[in-house]
Amino acid sequence: MTDPYDWLQHSLLTIHRADWYRSVQTIHGLPGATVVLGGEEVINFASNDYLGLAGDERLIAAAVVATQEFGTGSTGSRLLSGHRELHGELERAIASLKQTEDALVFSSGYLANIGAIAALVGKRDLILSDQYNHSSLKNGAILSGATVIEYSHCDVTELKTQLHQQRQNYRRCLILTDSVFSMDGDLCPLPALLDLAEEFRCMLLVDEAHATGVMGATGAGCVEHFGCTGRQLIQIGTLSKALGSLGGYVAGSHTLIDYLRNRSPSWIYTTGLSPADTAAALAAINIIRQEPQHLMQLWQNVNYLRTLLLELPNLKLLPSASPILCFQLPSAAEALQVGKQLKQAGIFAPAIRPPTVPTSRIRISLMATHKTTHIEKLAAVLNGI
Ligand SMILES: *Cc1c(COP(=O)(O)O)cnc(C)c1O
Repeated sequence: MTDPYDWLQHSLLTIHRADWYRSVQTIHGLPGATVVLGGEEVINFASNDYLGLAGDERLIAAAVVATQEFGTGSTGSRLLSGHRELHGELERAIASLKQTEDALVFSSGYLANIGAIAALVGKRDLILSDQYNHSSLKNGAILSGATVIEYSHCDVTELKTQLHQQRQNYRRCLILTDSVFSMDGDLCPLPALLDLAEEFRCMLLVDEAHATGVMGATGAGCVEHFGCTGRQLIQIGTLSKALGSLGGYVAGSHTLIDYLRNRSPSWIYTTGLSPADTAAALAAINIIRQEPQHLMQLWQNVNYLRTLLLELPNLKLLPSASPILCFQLPSAAEALQVGKQLKQAGIFAPAIRPPTVPTSRIRISLMATHKTTHIEKLAAVLNGI
């Protein structure tokens, strides 16, 4: 008799052999442009905290006050004992930032995607999904039971062909896309996607996880960046990146949100967001609205680093229009090696490997709180590698 768990060891060995093995790294102290990683201070180019708000004293104070006032846990589903006035305030603030009629807060962005997609389509329906979409969109699509067709990354022509061939065979159709692609940094062709959605009577869901607080003149996201505010679509996002907290949301029409409150299992059957997370996200949105200087500083940093990196001829930069800048490496082993060299030089920028992405790369994400010296050091170290 063999042990029914034996295969786990074998599987791990295969992962090791492919250089795909992953493990956690401990960060000490507050998040920020520099962090202490394994006892060493490093410049942090690995964070999603684009505006540097996760360590902001006002978010910390808001979380502490909310905890003192309302406790550590929300104690139940939002539909039972888990709803607080704070949740409503946060949802109104998100809807106001996004200029949508309403919004619904989930316990994470992953749960928001899974819950929204599974509620919107089923067995008789079609999902068309960008090949590079985030795991939460892909798994939401699988969970929904709809027929899923992936189209090549940002390929509007291929999407249109698929719609011509397939749309009439299904009841409802949902197009899924990241707005800022999280492991590449490029943007979806949102206006063209909206036009196709209208032409073929499809719903369109855009995941603004890396765009909220980052893209558009007021930080409302790619919808604002592309001048598509007010058009009919479903916006998803997270409170855990530029908003420095934890949680996710869906923003859209009253009807959409009312429907999701009644039909989205990952919202109904999970505990409401904690008072601390809710209050911190609310404080972040207030800061974004009142202090546009953080967004401006972020983009100054992005443009400065991009200028410096373009002067390095050996770096294979992937196309990007966001604070995420990646350069490609020929193999997972080489990506790991460069990641290690960067860390030895005091720079934290991780290797991203398959199966997360098709080709190995180093991923750099910029923050508003990076100093010019941090950016210059990164460019100097990369020049020497
Ligand atoms: C991070 C991310 C999510 C998940 O958000 P969490 O709140 O961390 O669960 C969803 N979609 C995209 C594109 C992301 O980058």
